[in-house]
Amino acid sequence: MPQPRYVLLDRDGTINIDCHYLSNPDDLRFCPGAVMGMRKLRLMGLGLIVITNQSGISRGYFDRATLDRVHARMIAQLATEGVEVDGIYVCPHGPDDNCCCRKPRTGLVEQAIRDFQFAPHDTFVVGDKPTDIAVGQAFGATTFLVENKANRNGKGGSNGQGSEEELAASLLCQPDYKVEDLIEVAEIIQRRICGHYAGLHITHTSMCETPTTEVVEDSAIETGQQPNLRRSEKTVHEHAE
Ligand SMILES: [Mg+2]
Ligand SMILES: [Zn+2]
Repeated sequence: MPQPRYVLLDRDGTINIDCHYLSNPDDLRFCPGAVMGMRKLRLMGLGLIVITNQSGISRGYFDRATLDRVHARMIAQLATEGVEVDGIYVCPHGPDDNCCCRKPRTGLVEQAIRDFQFAPHDTFVVGDKPTDIAVGQAFGATTFLVENKANRNGKGGSNGQGSEEELAASLLCQPDYKVEDLIEVAEIIQRRICGHYAGLHITHTSMCETPTTEVVEDSAIETGQQPNLRRSEKTVHEHAE
């Protein structure tokens, strides 16, 4: 049986609008096209894993319990739209903490690989920052840089530049695709990479040759039925040294 394929998604500026160190669940706003794009990816049989730098914890702006509440809200809102997230991996450190997991370092993806047993070069890595692209390229993944209007017009940048390593990533940034939103990511994957998209009713081995655990049919979404949740949340605390 083929391995499931995964999309590794950045959070701020990719899934939700990057407001300054989001800590109140009520402030959670999805980027334009994010929910529909994630739904399309799920329906194509792909797993979704969130990989996010949250230095607001290290900086003392909010604690882990607060972050968990934000993620609980995100998971719940996505679930009402028929979107299941397989896991959320968080780096709580700051640029000066020298951890192994703050993007562009690869610790969070390595943790996800251990948990989900996927081949990293087979993944699709999506983010709005060069550091996200650098992580994908470290594994030979197919990379997508999201340049949506919400980010360009918003304040943004709460977890972005901060170290020479991150600046270097921005200078070297050459994603495989530059896209407007997650809908475009899904369209590119279905068209160029996975071939013909069969529509919502995928009941057999998918075009990605990688059927995932649960396939959601549109009727399930419309009636509010939820797919089985298989979710994990992990925080990597180890430091590099
Ligand atoms: Mg981001
Ligand atoms: Zn870290």
